[in-house]
Amino acid sequence: MPYQIGNVYHGFRLVEDKKINELHSQGLIFMHEKSGAQLFYVGNKDDNKVFSISFRTPPADSTGVPHIIEHSVLCGSRKFPLKEPFVELVKGSLNTFLNAMTFPDKTMYPVASRNDKDFRNLMDVYLDAVFYPNIYQSPETLMQEGWHYEIEAPEAELTYKGVVYNEMKGAFSSADAILEQKILKTLFPDTTYGHESGGDPEFIPQLTQEQFLDFHRTYYHPSNSYIYLYGDMDLLDTLKFFDEAYLNSFTRIPVETAIPLQAPFSKTVRAEYDYPVSLTEKTVDKTFFSMNFVVGQATNPETILAFQVLEHMLLESPAAPLRKALIEAGIGKDVFGNFQEGMRQPVLTIAVSGSNPEKEDAFVKVVYQTLQQLTTAGIDKKLIEASINLLEFRLREANYGTNPKGLIYNINCMESWLYGESPFLQLEYEPVLAKIKTALTERYFESIIEQCLMDNTHRALVILKPHPGMTDQIDSQVREELAAYKATLSAAEIDVLVRQTQDLKRRQEAPDSPENLATIPLLDRADIKKEAEKIVLDVRREEETTILFSPLFTNKIAYLSFYFDAAVIPEEQIPYMYLLSDMLGKISTEKYTYSDLANEVNIHSGGMGYDAAAYSEGTTDTVYYPKFIVSVKALVEKLPTVMELLQQILTGSDYHDTKRLQEIVAETKENWSQSLFRLGRNIVATRTLAYFSPVGRYNEQAMLTFYQFLVDIEKNFTTRKQEIADNLAAVAKKLFVKANLLVGLTADEEHYPAFQTAFAGLAGSLGSESMPKQDYKLAFLDCNEGLMTPGKVQYVAKAANFRNRGYSYHGSMRVLETMLRYDYFWTKIRVQGGAYGGFANFYRNGNMVFGSYRDPNLVESLQVFDQTADYLRGLQCDEREMTKYIIGTMSKIDTPLTPPMKGERAASSYIRKITQQDIQKERDEILATGIEDIHALADLVGTAMRENYFCVLGNEDKIRQNETVFRKIIPVFE
Ligand SMILES: [Zn+2]
Repeated sequence: MPYQIGNVYHGFRLVEDKKINELHSQGLIFMHEKSGAQLFYVGNKDDNKVFSISFRTPPADSTGVPHIIEHSVLCGSRKFPLKEPFVELVKGSLNTFLNAMTFPDKTMYPVASRNDKDFRNLMDVYLDAVFYPNIYQSPETLMQEGWHYEIEAPEAELTYKGVVYNEMKGAFSSADAILEQKILKTLFPDTTYGHESGGDPEFIPQLTQEQFLDFHRTYYHPSNSYIYLYGDMDLLDTLKFFDEAYLNSFTRIPVETAIPLQAPFSKTVRAEYDYPVSLTEKTVDKTFFSMNFVVGQATNPETILAFQVLEHMLLESPAAPLRKALIEAGIGKDVFGNFQEGMRQPVLTIAVSGSNPEKEDAFVKVVYQTLQQLTTAGIDKKLIEASINLLEFRLREANYGTNPKGLIYNINCMESWLYGESPFLQLEYEPVLAKIKTALTERYFESIIEQCLMDNTHRALVILKPHPGMTDQIDSQVREELAAYKATLSAAEIDVLVRQTQDLKRRQEAPDSPENLATIPLLDRADIKKEAEKIVLDVRREEETTILFSPLFTNKIAYLSFYFDAAVIPEEQIPYMYLLSDMLGKISTEKYTYSDLANEVNIHSGGMGYDAAAYSEGTTDTVYYPKFIVSVKALVEKLPTVMELLQQILTGSDYHDTKRLQEIVAETKENWSQSLFRLGRNIVATRTLAYFSPVGRYNEQAMLTFYQFLVDIEKNFTTRKQEIADNLAAVAKKLFVKANLLVGLTADEEHYPAFQTAFAGLAGSLGSESMPKQDYKLAFLDCNEGLMTPGKVQYVAKAANFRNRGYSYHGSMRVLETMLRYDYFWTKIRVQGGAYGGFANFYRNGNMVFGSYRDPNLVESLQVFDQTADYLRGLQCDEREMTKYIIGTMSKIDTPLTPPMKGERAASSYIRKITQQDIQKERDEILATGIEDIHALADLVGTAMRENYFCVLGNEDKIRQNETVFRKIIPVFE
């Protein structure tokens, strides 16, 4: 039925109704008259429906109150009085997205589902949570989710515990996270953006119960809310539900949440901060410099898009002039940029890592001189074209992986909506894009640089310097403060804290009552489709090469994956193969300098990527297929040009420009140093598998072992440069031959002939020799290791291979993953242990891993893993509970995939020799899982844990304190 502007539908007055061509959608804005809630509906045929409710939540301090509220409202509410309804939904709904996010000035509660009944349930639980949380009745919520004093016995040590407290300790274990926080603190001394909305561990314990409740009372009202709906749904019926079940009970109130603008500075502000490194670490090459600019306002969509392009152009592309200038001047090892959105006043950051304090003046000078030069001489038009094309490709492709499209549009539209402007502004990108394209002929970006960077005094130079032993210093300071506080307490007061600690633990361990659990609506097993999604695969032959073709609608884009058999690479050259994946596309070729090459690639394609990995066959981890993978996406009409570029890269790259080689080695190593801690979970999982699993050992070479290789070749580059270059050339020559190639293609059937023609050109240019295959005998790594870092928390993993012990893979293991992650580990490792989470993975090849992340504990978590078998033996679960876990497992398996993801899945199944029947069998087993199947896994888990393979990455002090549990402890950083 047609909607009329000004008419009221279930209490919602229609304010605007407009077609959004860019999204093939209809956009409707409503105002709920009684409560003052605003609602934006993006209507179209997409069945992956999205709902979210957001609130403007600007913090006035760094206690993390918005973040703690975000966690806490999901801990039980009026209609759903459970300990954690959120967890119940993760366990047992068909959601395709379910989360909550705290931003610097807003909090979002989004859900997505393709099932109508499920979608309604999710909305109901989320609305009840935000408007009627149980936080007013249960002070334990702040204690558990935020912070509390923990003390086991009167004579024991007093400590701080809490989920957000630990989460943020983990978050601030990486230097780049610390830098980002310090930048905002420096640029916005007088507004909400100067505070840490996530919470700074130093300030979190200052939050009181009263402040906590006040924050909710003030901001969680419909008058301060932004409701968003997306996709194919019965809108009227949904509006009726919102009105009757929730909004009608509220009366519009004024909510003062306007976000003031920070008054600009009169001159550049300089600020210097410390970040922690290990006591044993060197401090050379560990300083960060950043120049930061507050650039305009988010409500101008042109600002947002133009700065996304500018940031890429100046700092991301290998052709980026500012990146090149800073590297060539030897300011640091790596250059990075960031354009921070999601704030009323967005920020552009130009940063260098791996530098030294004496380079400060040089850094500032190179930044301004380069910007100055760009405005006078003009920016290379090819570079501008390349960066604009990349943005345009991404906008039109709208491929957000497993994230629902509607969610990304939601985040985008908040850029203007939250600040009182139309939510349409950021979605209608065509006029803005057209304007930005004038940059191809006019001084567009040059004048932005002049106005927003050169002539803009709202800027800050923020420096971050390494401070050895700072983590331990802070820790002992906190310990002293707590001891001093304890000394002021009377015996009676200490008893109260001890009792509180015990009560909280008891509460956390007590299961929800069946009546309370039953309040969460649950689907039936019958709501899940029985058939596994078909693998879309048509195996063809072209140019004597196997083509794994997935004919799918891709909107004129061809997604290509070239799988080169890497079994031709001898063991000693494997590290160079991984290095090659970081080099290709960034070094010059016969025809192009590396800058020109990067521009050509970005002008003609949507990006090219290089990677290497080994795929294990079927149900074994001893037979595996290592591949070097080149992925490309491009419009079909561009395929001939793209294949030519690819040919240049694969067969014409110049590995002997050692100056360039050295730059990339330094930058890659620096990049790893910065991200290693964040990858902690993957590092420990792969490391543990490398103690006993052949495929695990192979794949570990891409992780910590590769980082160690980078450290070594960077240090000894001068003496080893010839050898490095020769090895890279040799690896490329062995890999890129036709006989090694398997191609994955995802595109429309009608575009296949275009691929055929373009591919013939590439195939003809590859080497024609056939290379001998290696029979790897990789020695397992020595277990068990403690990997020491200056980080504040641990990543703990314990792994084994169950096939080696006579067990075989079964679908019920997937159900067990869900049960452990959201029940046993959730309670023991997250709620009680204070870690961010725990996980369990069982793989078809027989490997299994249990792990924890951002964990304040170490041996306690290993004990939890060891006790899993006993827990499983005693586990009671009724039919409803089992159904819940099965639905939750299925929602993960049935996550909607984009066409290129379907193509990748088809190719990987082909390589692994996994058939449609195998996938169907796993699905049947999951659907039929009963409690007896879970009990049957207890012995397997017990046996696996007794193998005792584990690895921990984390705080050096903590690892030293537990030295005796390891065979080896090693510092990760030099
Ligand atoms: Zn959190």
